[in-house]
Amino acid sequence: MDLEKISRGVRLILEGIGEDALREGLKETPRRVAEMYSDVFAGLEEDPVSVITTMPADRHQEMVLLKDISFFSMCEHHLLPFYGKAHLAYIPSKGGLITGLSKLTKLVQVVARRPQLQERMTSTIADALEEALNPRGALVLVEADHLCMGMRGIRSQARIVTSAVRGIFRTNAATRAEALTLINLRETGR
Ligand code: ZN
Repeated sequence: MDLEKISRGVRLILEGIGEDALREGLKETPRRVAEMYSDVFAGLEEDPVSVITTMPADRHQEMVLLKDISFFSMCEHHLLPFYGKAHLAYIPSKGGLITGLSKLTKLVQVVARRPQLQERMTSTIADALEEALNPRGALVLVEADHLCMGMRGIRSQARIVTSAVRGIFRTNAATRAEALTLINLRETGR
């Protein structure tokens, strides 16, 4: 991450909007923003699949579901935050692999902490689960508020829900319904 380059860019933005980039309140802003960006975009430096360390599932073949994983991301179109909750479910394959619950949380953070689209974030998480665990099925639901809808443009806030549904969650309606009931969201037909 090139902090110097980010700082130069932020100073140009301040000058571009007609501010005095050297006045007291702003003179340290480019450096502060650069440090903040290196933090909120830290996920760029990690591979989502490699954060999922695995262990044998033994006989466990039931659904594993982790819900209400909070995250903060940045919309890549406007560099404004979107934030909310992710819900992840998977069913290990027979004799397959499982992972620790903290790894699922870490997966969400790594995928969220980069310039992002909610749709891509959702499918990237599902792809990583499939690649790392080769499960019978994976289901990812993300609900988020986007500041680029509230602060600009239509200036209206709405919660956006995206889903990625793989394997048995796609082919078996009862299994999918069970996951959605546990997540406590009604199936919307998306
Ligand atoms: Zn946006």
